[in-house]
Amino acid sequence: MAKAWEIENFLSERNNQLFIDGVSAVKLAEEYGTPLFVFSESRIKHNIARLQKTETVIDAKLKVCYAAKANSLMAILRTVKDANCDLEVNSGGELWKALKVGFAGEQLIFNGTSKEVWELELAINSDIYAIQVDSLSELSLIEETARRLDKTANVSLRLVPEIETKTHSGLQTALLTSKFGMMPDEALAAFHKYKESKHLDICGVHLHIGSQNPESAPYSDALRALFENLETIFKETGIKLKHLNLGGGFPVNYLRDNSHDSDFPQAQRDMFSADFEPSDAISQAWQEVKKAAAASDASELLKDITLLIEPGRSVIADAGICLTTVRNVKNRPVQQSENSGRWSVFSGQNKNDALEMPQIKTDHRSLTTDYWLLTDAGFNLLLSMETYKWYYHLISAERANEEANFPYKVAGPLCDGGDVYFDIEGEGRLPDYRLLPASVKPNEILALLNCGAYSIAQMFQYNGRFLPCVVLTKENGKVELIRKRDAFEDLVNNDKW
Ligand SMILES: *Cc1c(COP(=O)(O)O)cnc(C)c1O
Repeated sequence: MAKAWEIENFLSERNNQLFIDGVSAVKLAEEYGTPLFVFSESRIKHNIARLQKTETVIDAKLKVCYAAKANSLMAILRTVKDANCDLEVNSGGELWKALKVGFAGEQLIFNGTSKEVWELELAINSDIYAIQVDSLSELSLIEETARRLDKTANVSLRLVPEIETKTHSGLQTALLTSKFGMMPDEALAAFHKYKESKHLDICGVHLHIGSQNPESAPYSDALRALFENLETIFKETGIKLKHLNLGGGFPVNYLRDNSHDSDFPQAQRDMFSADFEPSDAISQAWQEVKKAAAASDASELLKDITLLIEPGRSVIADAGICLTTVRNVKNRPVQQSENSGRWSVFSGQNKNDALEMPQIKTDHRSLTTDYWLLTDAGFNLLLSMETYKWYYHLISAERANEEANFPYKVAGPLCDGGDVYFDIEGEGRLPDYRLLPASVKPNEILALLNCGAYSIAQMFQYNGRFLPCVVLTKENGKVELIRKRDAFEDLVNNDKW
């Protein structure tokens, strides 16, 4: 029977091993060493095509701009470009990388809260599609910079329309309490002020409601908010916007294998297992806005409009797998506490989840020993496992067909007590134990799934650990090394001593 984590034409079990695009994960680990990130070219292209098909369900042009911050390895950017996908960047550094890879200016949009003059100059000189403006102060800096360069900057204003989604608080971005964007009335003032400017073409409005949004309804609210702004701007200034940018945040189902379902508080589980078709959400939002436009006799304003989306996670998360080796094991007697037994970790959950106590598998309860596995992949590679308590499903890459029913405490290699695969703060936001086949021993290769987004984009050399090797499985069956593992010198490259 197929395993719940299997994905047709991508992830499978063969000869008891994990196969990625028809290549044995164990062989890859042997050849390249671990920790090793494996990316699938065909999965990236599949994910982009899934988003691009949205154009067939709306009657507007669609511009899909992959959010580079999710993963901006050069070969990943190249793969995105080869899939005819445009790009959203967040800094002059990402912009430089995009230009190096060969993206044309018109394929690029540039976000960020704290842009510097040199970054604006690079963006303006590259004639990018839009600089997304975070404040009125920044807008005046862009105007000044464009005037000095005797150019016209294409800009789009980022709004904070007060749209809340049920994602992690660190991933909420369209609230007045978040650090992003400007108020709709500020945006309107900007259109008035720069209407006649030769150096600014304010051609769109933008918002981004957050990441891993478990429900599709906020996209309707968001598009409606964008349209209301477009309408007001036209009425008050006569300016007809060329684009609306709905942002990213389309979810990835991190719990496709649901063997840990009962370990999560409900809200956490709903977020991690979110799974809707972005094209359905956008189509629904589009229909609603069309109706609203017709009702207020404003359909003309939607004609020739381009809709932008900025997906990051939904392009790259499930296309990346992190292979890690068990480097150390140990057994510990289970700590019994007086009142709540060994499950005391769950008693400190969010009060909101009080009614949703996770069900503990009874077979865990009978354990008197904790079996610890110490891997070579820690939060130096998967920072969000520590900061956001992000869940990455763990399987054995060399015993992929065996029943994963034995509970382990799993931790990474860092000399830091927070480098664990469970929620050390005791809020129950991650399972306490990971399920793998019995008798895992040192040197067994494990695989963390859905690791492609916000992982190696955030990696660092804490504890003098080498940044990892990354390979890409190609559609032609070959495996391409796309990032070599750090060598000793890389640990000190920029140091002076
Ligand atoms: C991070 C970010 C995205 C991508 O979000 P995902 O959840 O990865 O799709 C898109 N737009 C902006 C402005 C962002 O900051």
